[in-house]
Amino acid sequence: MFHVKHSSPHILLVNPWIADFAAYNFWIKPLGLLNIADLLRENGFRVTLIDCLDSLTKTRKYGIGKFPKTRIDKPHPLKSVPRNYSQYGIPEEMLLKRFSMVEENPDTIGITSGMTYWYPGVFKIIEITKKFFRNVPIILGGIYATLCYEHAKKHSGVDIVFNGREESEVLKLIFGLTGFEVAPNSELRRNNLQYPAFDLYPQLDYLCISTSKGCPFTCTYCASPFLTKGFSRRDPYNVVDEIEYWTGKCGVNNIAFYDDALLVDPSKHFVPIMKEVIRRGIHCNFHTPNAVHIREIDEEIAALLFRSRFKTIRLGFETSDEATQIETGGKVDNQKFQRAIKSLKRAGYSGEEIGVYLMAGLPGQRVGEVEKGIAFVKESGANPMLVEYSPIPHTPLFEKAKKLSPFDLENEPLFHNNSILPCQWDGFTMADYRRLKEGLRRN
Ligand code: SF4
Repeated sequence: MFHVKHSSPHILLVNPWIADFAAYNFWIKPLGLLNIADLLRENGFRVTLIDCLDSLTKTRKYGIGKFPKTRIDKPHPLKSVPRNYSQYGIPEEMLLKRFSMVEENPDTIGITSGMTYWYPGVFKIIEITKKFFRNVPIILGGIYATLCYEHAKKHSGVDIVFNGREESEVLKLIFGLTGFEVAPNSELRRNNLQYPAFDLYPQLDYLCISTSKGCPFTCTYCASPFLTKGFSRRDPYNVVDEIEYWTGKCGVNNIAFYDDALLVDPSKHFVPIMKEVIRRGIHCNFHTPNAVHIREIDEEIAALLFRSRFKTIRLGFETSDEATQIETGGKVDNQKFQRAIKSLKRAGYSGEEIGVYLMAGLPGQRVGEVEKGIAFVKESGANPMLVEYSPIPHTPLFEKAKKLSPFDLENEPLFHNNSILPCQWDGFTMADYRRLKEGLRRN
């Protein structure tokens, strides 16, 4: 049982702006923050959410679109990059208006963070928040705070940087800050039927869902194994209940899966989920912007993806070079890739609809490897999409990236920005990259 010092503290949760050369809303929602919001309410707190990214200039097909943007000065380390730099999300005046509409001063403020190199948007929010709500403790969490903990502690100006993994840990922190006390060994209240607090949004064009945590693979460029320890999955029927809840209650008809490993061991997870979605007659478009595992896509899975209305299919192929595939973790090989493409096409997808991510600018990678990858994907009948490599702290490849990059990746997260091609070298220059991009655009 909890010892409550005063009733119902008020927590303000903020999803900050993105500061970058480019940003597009491909079903972005702060799922971790919304899970915390739900957990807080479940445990008696009142919650206000301000999502600086909850705004589009124009909503396009499937609920996605461009964020409003405000041109801002480039941070000093990026001064020489010949591109405009912007703050993406609601204008500052709107943020201040939303702050002024917060009914009661919060007891604690929680701010999340995304990509490591977006931190200028986070710092700006922190600065404004501190001026507006004086003397209210601020906790900074999220991906940047976890991956760049020391940087955030030194430069963010918040009271607490949270780099834990469990939502329940942050809740205990908030209990402490607000005067709630948790008795030793007491369990936080967690109702399995509660869902992320999407109801805090005035309007929902789409939402995202996570059916699992973590990933059983350990690709050398990926932060998933560091950010989430272990691999666990929800009960398939509980997932379908959630999908039915949002599509029925809120009329949402676009859902993006945020899983790192949605298709792994499909007969125990993905197949029962989607068969049940079909059986219940749930009408919704599904999207996989984070990419799915190619090795699991056979005729049955491809047919199920098509029948259950997966409209955006993204595959994490990364490279067709077999040595690099093995060296970076071995999550896929070329035979399985070709089988997946054949199966998806037989199921009804056009080549254009099958987006295949290829990584460009891995440490030491030559441009020829990416050219071969593009040709291989095209020959297989799918749609190659280049993703510039971003070096991520705490990943095995980060050490190699630090050695080979011309930028100070260790001390300046702004240099993790994939737009600057952080591991460019004579064998793969920015001009090479532009030529590849241009070639794909023309075709
Ligand atoms: S399979 Fe995907 S999510 Fe899992 S470690 Fe590799 S890149 Fe990350």
